Parts: sequence; structure tokens; C-alpha cells
Amino acid sequence: MSEIRQPSPRRGTNLPKMGDFNLTVILDAIRRSSGGLSRVELAQIVGLSPQTISNISRRLLDQHLIVEAGKEGSGPGKPRTILRLNPSGMYAIGVHLDPAVTTFVVLDLVGAVVQHSSINTPGGNDPSAVISTMATEIGQLVSDSGVDRGKIAGLGLAVPGPIDLDNGTVVDPPLLPGWDRVELRNALAEATGYSVLVDKDVTSAAVAETWAGGPSGAGSFIFMYMGTGIGCGIVLNDEVIRGTSGNAGEIGHIVVDPDGPACDCGLRGCVKSSCIPQVLVAEAEAAGILDGSRTDNSGAEVQKSFSRLCDLADEGDAGAMGIIDKSAVLVARAVSVVTNTLDVERVVFGGPFWTRMSQRYLEKVPALLEANSAARLIHSIEVVGTGVGEDVGAIGAACLVLEHTLAPRAQRLLLES
Ligand SMILES: [Zn+2]
Repeated sequence: MSEIRQPSPRRGTNLPKMGDFNLTVILDAIRRSSGGLSRVELAQIVGLSPQTISNISRRLLDQHLIVEAGKEGSGPGKPRTILRLNPSGMYAIGVHLDPAVTTFVVLDLVGAVVQHSSINTPGGNDPSAVISTMATEIGQLVSDSGVDRGKIAGLGLAVPGPIDLDNGTVVDPPLLPGWDRVELRNALAEATGYSVLVDKDVTSAAVAETWAGGPSGAGSFIFMYMGTGIGCGIVLNDEVIRGTSGNAGEIGHIVVDPDGPACDCGLRGCVKSSCIPQVLVAEAEAAGILDGSRTDNSGAEVQKSFSRLCDLADEGDAGAMGIIDKSAVLVARAVSVVTNTLDVERVVFGGPFWTRMSQRYLEKVPALLEANSAARLIHSIEVVGTGVGEDVGAIGAACLVLEHTLAPRAQRLLLES
């Protein structure tokens, strides 16, 4: 159980009965090229015979997964027909279940969002009501998109970790009481009729970055997911790393402040006990910076209060600035543990809470990382905000489906119903 994306185009095989594998190899090579590829270029890249390329191209054209996109040619010889993915050849639904907001998207085959919606995640501890609300929202989303249901390859679902891949369950998610061990994948598949893949939100975000993030999604990087919890997605040499059980990237118990608040793990000053939004909001309330008018501890209420805290910091409130800036210092410590361990070239920040804190973090974190980087004399570490935007979790979830359908190595690494 590891990554679904390959670091470089796979070499195909000309042996018989390997058609489906070769088909995905060719689709993948076309997808990775920015402007499309000619049959001749394809043959060179994937190492298949011109005849095989020709046959498979025909099949892909017949299935409307690719289109012939004009001719290209300079110099001698006849101009070459360029093959590109057909955006409307296939679609995928992505859902991001966050404790505060649940986001829904429909992506086309090239990863563009064709429809989007979001709802406040229903509170309370009744997962079945949430699932039925999600199913209704998905039905509306697809209907609004105008996409033919038959062209939808499936539904990807990004959820807070840790997850149990075998059972398709979320395990003890923060701020989602009652969700422990709910068989989310099967329940959602049953409620919607789509096949469902599940992955952690932090991993989905990293997948989205590799598909739709542009330059920031290439090579080796960590995706720092700033949500209700803080976690990281890991991409090494263009491969998304999931670990043995799909739970890589749980950094909540890295100690960043030895004298900090006690954590439920028994240590003090973990990421989870000292710099997640819920903690920062409580700190601001205790200091009288926020008025404490929060009605409950739900994800939506925490997000609202955190947003107010960021507003105050933007307005120059010294107390609010102090809290956000201190969190940047602490988060940077955790990030440097991970970047030093993995020797990545880039840190990409994103997630539901990111936009509000981005300015202060981007001012502070790069220098802190540089100072703590074990490899600082050899290379610098770039720090950027996500190229995908606010919906990165949902977009990543839909990319899981595209990847699962298109990637050359069709191993079972996600939850399939
Ligand atoms: Zn801890």
C-alpha cells in the first residue's frame, strides 16, 4: 500500500494481453505532458512499438478519453497529430469532510473544477444524518454540473486521519463526536450509488498539489495541511507516500514547546496541544483577546472564532499578532523536523485555515526553516502556499479517482467498495 503516482513515465510492454496496462501508461504519459504528445513522441517516451501506440490511441479516441488536437510540425517530414486528454471524457466527484465545512467538487479528466459546493458540516453526533445530507448534496452537485452520470468514474472522499483502510472507517477524528469507526466508505457508496475511495485529507491535499498545483506540485515536498488538525502529506520524487496503513504524516505529537500545554499523549507542547486553531482560539479567549462568545466547540464555531482572531491580528492587535506569530514559530519547528527527515525541496502550506494565516506564516516560516535546516549549506527549502486553492482537499479526493482509473499501476491501495 503506497503511492499511486509514478515518478516518471512507465515503460510499456509489447507482450500480448497487456493492453490495459499499456493503455494507462499511454494515458498517463499524455496527462503529464503539458501540451499533448504525438504518436511518435509517445512511442519514444513509453517504449512501445508504433503499431501498439496506434492501436491503443484508436481505442482511447473511440472511448473519447483523448482527442486529436491539431497538427504540429516544423522541419522535414509530415506534421504530427497531437493527442491530448479529452476534458469531458471522464469526470470524478471529490468530497472533503472537514469538521467545519464539507466541500464537494466535480472534476473533469484534466483536473479542472466544473462544479463546486460547500455546506457547514452538520454538528451533533449522528453520522448517518451527515451521510444522508452529503448524498443529497452530491445529487444536487451532479445535477447542477450537467455532467452525464455515466461518465463519472467514482467518488473520492477525504477525511481527517487516522483512517482504517481495511474497513473504510475514520478513527477518532477531532471535533467529530460519534464518528469513531463509522463505515463511511460503504455508507456513502450505498447512499450515492458511486464507487467510493477514501484517503486522509492531508494525503488528498498532496495528491491535488501533484495534479493541479503547477510547479509547486513537482519533485519532493511536504504539504502542510492547516485544518482543524495539523498534518502533512508527503511527496518524494513525484510519488505520494502513504506508509504501511495509509496514515503517514501524523505529526500532531511532535513536541515543539517543551514547556507548553499538556497533551493527551502525556507529553507537553505537542503540535496538537499547542498550535492547532482550537488551542489558539482558547488561548485568545483566556487572554481576553476574543470575547468567548463561542457557543460550542464544533468545527464551525472554532473556525469562526479563529477567523476573528486573524482579523484582529491583521488590524494590528498586539495580542492576536502574538498568538498567530508564536504558532508560526512552533509550526516551523515541527516542519523542520519533517523536512530534515525527508530532505525535501519545498514546503507547501494549505488547507481550510491556511488563507487566513498565510501572510504572517509566509513572513516568518522561511527564515525559521532555513535556520533549522540540516542541509542549508547544500540547498534551500522553498516555502509556498498551495497552487490549488481552498478546495484542495476535495479536489485531491476527486484526483484519487482519476488517478485510480488512469494510473499505470493499478494496485489496490485505496478503499474500494
Ligand atoms: Zn502529544
